[in-house]
Amino acid sequence: MLVVMYKTATEDDVAAVCKLIEEMGLNSHPMPGAIRTAIGATGNKSRVDADRIMAQSGVKEIIHVTKPYKLVSREFYPEDSVIDVGGVPVGGPNLVTIAGPCAVESYDQCMIIAEAVAKAGAHMFRGGAYKPRTSPYSFQGLREEGLKILSQVRDKFGLKIVTEAVDTEVLEVVADYADVIQIGARNMQNFSLLRKAGRQDKAVLLKRGMSATVEEFLMAAEYIMSEGNRKVILCERGVRTFADHTRNTLDLSAVPFCKRTSHLPIVVDPSHGTGRKDKVLPLSRAGIAAGADGLIVEVHHDPANAMSDGPQSITPEMFEKLMGETAAIGAVLGRK
Ligand code: PEP
Ligand code: MN
Repeated sequence: MLVVMYKTATEDDVAAVCKLIEEMGLNSHPMPGAIRTAIGATGNKSRVDADRIMAQSGVKEIIHVTKPYKLVSREFYPEDSVIDVGGVPVGGPNLVTIAGPCAVESYDQCMIIAEAVAKAGAHMFRGGAYKPRTSPYSFQGLREEGLKILSQVRDKFGLKIVTEAVDTEVLEVVADYADVIQIGARNMQNFSLLRKAGRQDKAVLLKRGMSATVEEFLMAAEYIMSEGNRKVILCERGVRTFADHTRNTLDLSAVPFCKRTSHLPIVVDPSHGTGRKDKVLPLSRAGIAAGADGLIVEVHHDPANAMSDGPQSITPEMFEKLMGETAAIGAVLGRK
């Protein structure tokens, strides 16, 4: 249920409505916006006495949200959410680019790649310190040592850091170092991890599960938001299909669907979405053309010797071209 307040409603009016919602055994989520202030009420298992809320000072109307996702839906929040990641805006008219290696391999590796992507105009640096690998014998990441390297990248180049929390055990240490906590495709329905991420004061990049419908994807975002964290960035990274010319099938139709249904920003990952470096540039262009709010791209200075995802990692030279071309496409669409 969504309680829409009059523009003239005071802070005290909003607080009183929140208090009443809580007294009724529900959770209240005040959502101030430029157009209106609304208060989401979630957790109702039976019919709520809407008349009691309607009678409060400052209440304009009550909307019963039919979608299973509430906080995530545009019905709840009609504007585009713009998420502030330490001064870098994600969503709205802005395009964001996140670039870096699949895995943090060493200090030197990160510094070389970070210098190149920063020069090309990236806003954030990606790199896994904890890697979810198919084989337990593959490189699992440098763990906290990797996180320390990432914070040195931030200090040196001013790039914000996006890095994955693979489980609830490491989530807090990841949150200590990261600007954006990544939740990977394999964990999209790890509900305890989603809930815990929802209790952090850090933005979360939520990747779509490889066999998840878009509705399941949005429900996963709802788990995070239901714990109070509104800073969720969606990420389309491809799903499993019968197609074998590509690692995954990048579902770009999810972009306009999510933009219409949800206020949350969505970025596209053409690297995991295709698995091949020659497909990264065309699908980056297509992602921006489809209305994505940005890209997350794997870049490596020596892809042939990368410790993970070398075949889909583009070189810094290719990344520079990608930045130029996607900016030009974004400009056509009025994106900054
Ligand atoms: C990654 O970003 O390196 C990664 C493991 O992605 P995904 O969870 O989408 O497979
Ligand atoms: Mn990867």
